[in-house]
Amino acid sequence: MRYTSTRDDQASTSAAGAIVKGISDDGGLFVPDEIPSLPAEAIRQMVGMPYPEVAARVMAGWLRGFSFDELLSMCQAAYRSFDTPGVAPLMTLSGNRHVLELFHGPTLAFKDMALQILPRLMAASAKKVNETRELVILVATSGDTGKAALAGFAGVPGVRIVVFYPDGGVSEAQRLQMVTQEGANARVIAVRGNFDDAQSGVKRMFATKPLQDLLSERGMALSSANSINLGRLVPQIAYYFWAYARLVASRHIIFGKPINVCVPTGNFGNILAAFYAKEMGVPIGRLICASNQNNVLADFINTGAYDRNRPFFQTTSPSMDILISSNLERLLFELTGRDAGEVCAMMANLAKSGRYVLPTGAFLKLKTFMSGGWASEEQVSGQIAATFHEDKYLSDPHTAVALNVLARFQQETGDRTPTVVASTASPYKFGKSVARALFGAEAAELDDFACCDKLAEASKGEVPAAISTLRKKPVLHTAVCEKDGMQPALLYALSTAQ
Ligand SMILES: *Cc1c(COP(=O)(O)O)cnc(C)c1O
Repeated sequence: MRYTSTRDDQASTSAAGAIVKGISDDGGLFVPDEIPSLPAEAIRQMVGMPYPEVAARVMAGWLRGFSFDELLSMCQAAYRSFDTPGVAPLMTLSGNRHVLELFHGPTLAFKDMALQILPRLMAASAKKVNETRELVILVATSGDTGKAALAGFAGVPGVRIVVFYPDGGVSEAQRLQMVTQEGANARVIAVRGNFDDAQSGVKRMFATKPLQDLLSERGMALSSANSINLGRLVPQIAYYFWAYARLVASRHIIFGKPINVCVPTGNFGNILAAFYAKEMGVPIGRLICASNQNNVLADFINTGAYDRNRPFFQTTSPSMDILISSNLERLLFELTGRDAGEVCAMMANLAKSGRYVLPTGAFLKLKTFMSGGWASEEQVSGQIAATFHEDKYLSDPHTAVALNVLARFQQETGDRTPTVVASTASPYKFGKSVARALFGAEAAELDDFACCDKLAEASKGEVPAAISTLRKKPVLHTAVCEKDGMQPALLYALSTAQ
């Protein structure tokens, strides 16, 4: 199996090559020449299997050139850092809704599901392709990727990591998690702009040949830990197999019956993983794509026209405050019947005018399996309160976006298929917003830590140590740059990192 590019179907590289490079030279994303699949019997065998074993089986189909045992030991090591042996527990709410908690890793967001294993995949891949230069992991983050990547890569030999985040565009806990990161090989920089500015800046650096040459002279090569990296995507496919197997094991469904999946979506990585799981054989009926007030994806799914020319909103679900969803390009590739020329044309339009229109056939195909909706800030806050009072479940704002969109989807369609809702962050990571939704003005007066204490008390839970210890950690990263000054900021950061 080889990997090709969404913008050039003549490009060809191995899985290891795709992981090391991150993005194809033509600006496209790496896609397999054929999406692997698993027979029903192989999926049935996953019922009752431990998480790392399910993950290794799913990943083996995508990562040819890695042995099953190699992947299994990487998965076992990666998921040991989670706070529960079940890695991603399923919580059942009323109405046959099952919340898949993907936030039990060290940084309390679903990004850990991939970023705890990516450094291991990256190191093994570099060896397989004889890459001897030091890897510089360049990250643009809307909040959670940054910390998860830092946690995964800090202290890893042969790697430096530089993270750019939008100044003022992340939650206080997210910011503190990043700027207190230790590790001589890690640097964190605030960008005066929003997430799209930071992401565009990073993409530009990847496309700047003179920068690559300069770094190469210094024995370094750029690589990406953003969700477009194949090594991020593949581990995420696994938890949809896991969720299905858990639902069968707990007798909520009979093996072979369909489920729906609802995902709070930003850069389209998580829901794309669900799409691939469906293509691989997991009986998934509809994929429900949930957006916040930045509803460019909901509009796209409902009209077939992608248009980023709209106001950008800062919401209480900042990890979804995105107007350019990079991973969507991989779905476009599949929807157009794997037509790289067609994808190139759409991406050129996006770059030029900020919009593109899906060809009719591709749009009709999309409508057969995907629904899209969005939740306003008021709806999100109302949903957090409703879920807490009706189901005794504390949800973070991202998860609440999904629960809210799902509720309206079910109302409008009457579709009552058992549904897995991806829960992407711990409520304590967004303590202030959650507390405001539950306690109103009373919480507005409190700082983030006091809000978390209040949430713990109300839910008879505990504030995770990853949050409570932030209070005392020293701030180690104070750099700020303009959105047009990211390259000099990177070079300066690299000169001070080791
Ligand atoms: C990153 C993130 C998302 C969005 O995931 P995508 O894969 O980018 O669609 C949603 N919620 C949280 C908490 C996140 O960290």
